Amino acid sequence: DLEHPLDNVIYPEMVPLLEAIDRQNKEKEAVANMRKEFSANVSHELKTPLTSISGYAEIMMNGLVRAEDIPGFSKRIYKEARRLITLVEDIIKLSKLDEESVELEKEDVELYELTREIVSRLSPQCSEKKISVALSGEPVFCHGIRQILDEMIYNITENAIKYNRDGGSVSVWVGNTLDGPKISVSDTGIGIPEEHQERIFERFYRVDKSHSKERGGTGLGLSIVKHGAILHGAKVTVNSEPGKGTKIEIRFPKEEKMKKAEVL
Ligand code: ADP
Repeated sequence: DLEHPLDNVIYPEMVPLLEAIDRQNKEKEAVANMRKEFSANVSHELKTPLTSISGYAEIMMNGLVRAEDIPGFSKRIYKEARRLITLVEDIIKLSKLDEESVELEKEDVELYELTREIVSRLSPQCSEKKISVALSGEPVFCHGIRQILDEMIYNITENAIKYNRDGGSVSVWVGNTLDGPKISVSDTGIGIPEEHQERIFERFYRVDKSHSKERGGTGLGLSIVKHGAILHGAKVTVNSEPGKGTKIEIRFPKEEKMKKAEVL
């Protein structure tokens, strides 16, 4: 086919338009890549515990285990199954953040009382590691989705306990600032090296995979926090010093505007 002489002519006024299309295509490609990577990670994370469960069960089924080893084997199967349950629950929470319906469930949520409840729910984990949690601040209202706010506060407080040292402490502050409601959680734990601080909000990202797994982590907790924050127009910041501790803050906007999150 002969090319039309005008095929390759680009008018100057078309340039911004073409650039915009190019940008849009690149964004679409990035989203597609993230989805692909997420599916690959999900398959891997699901397969690992399932492979050990079926392996242990098979050995027991074939009568290859001595009677005295059966409790140990059952315990491993139980632990791997628990891991799978937590993982599936976290995946469901993340996908729910993608649904439009979340926009309908807004209500005025009092964050101080909610945080107090969360701290008491976490008390078994605290006593296990002899960690003391101090809650201070004042009642403050946030217009949002109770379930998601609960998950956000729970995840950062749980991390402050999980990645703490035995006998360490956690300080939680909830209250109002000139810029709006704020929640601040500080711990005396292992800290997060600078180069990892931005990446901990990515799905399945863990600074130390075995350390996180040992503590029942899925690597999804902070991405739930991040997407919950986007949905509430909130900002999450990290301040951390390895070996000293970490402070995570969530700042909600004064004008409680809800935004539909684009969950990748
Ligand atoms: P996980 O399920 O592994 O805890 P998260 O998404 O909640 O996943 O956190 C991602 C990673 O960030 C963790 O694996 C851990 O390495 C690091 N991290 C999160 N919170 C803290 C904290 N308070 N102190 C130290 N490291 C933390």
